[in-house]
Amino acid sequence: MTSPHSQANGAESPLPSTMDAMAYGAALPDMTCEPLPDLCHKCGRCCKSATTYASHEELLKLADNGEKEAIDFLTIFQPFESQEAARAAVPDQVDQVLKEAALQDNLTPENMTFYHCRYVTPEGICGIYDQRPRCCREAPAHGWSMMPPGCGFEGWQFQKREEQKASIRNLKTIVHTLETLSPDGIHHPADPSRTLDDIRAKVEKNIGAFRRFGSDHW
Ligand code: SF4
Ligand code: SF4
Repeated sequence: MTSPHSQANGAESPLPSTMDAMAYGAALPDMTCEPLPDLCHKCGRCCKSATTYASHEELLKLADNGEKEAIDFLTIFQPFESQEAARAAVPDQVDQVLKEAALQDNLTPENMTFYHCRYVTPEGICGIYDQRPRCCREAPAHGWSMMPPGCGFEGWQFQKREEQKASIRNLKTIVHTLETLSPDGIHHPADPSRTLDDIRAKVEKNIGAFRRFGSDHW
């Protein structure tokens, strides 16, 4: 007698193609969103108040250890003395960032440092445009970067976040379905050379990059 999930020769797979693909290492959601569209309004507000997921102390340590992105960031950005000082410079942005930070894991809003670039002009123009570092060329880099209200990338960021959430929900559904269809609860139902533990580990590793944005709740 065959399992209800086994295939007769030539029979169509009971698994959707995405699940078959999982057996061979399907594409998983990626944080990067390239190429970046040209949506910047050149308002300069992100240059007047930036923040990072790492604390100021962590950034300093990363820079001491030669981490290029941290060095670049600290070369152009100076910390505001306080959140109040940042709020006085860019009121809407500081409050929006703190509100978003409160929803994200691994961030403590009251401990966040805001920075302003030493090269942005009062009109919001970059004073070193041709030499601006990579972190500026690639901003906002992905859908989860905290940008000022009204930033030209708002709609694009929303779309990227929703795409990644949908992709992760899909992966979770695939894993649950594979667990349900597995004949022994250990192996992939269509590819016995793969174990569910391997697949779960691969999915977990990929989803892990999104955990700080709340992927456990998607
Ligand atoms: S806040 Fe957005 S629109 Fe304004 S300069 Fe920065 S990236 Fe461009
Ligand atoms: S270097 Fe230029 S683009 Fe980068 S934060 Fe400063 S002003 Fe903005």
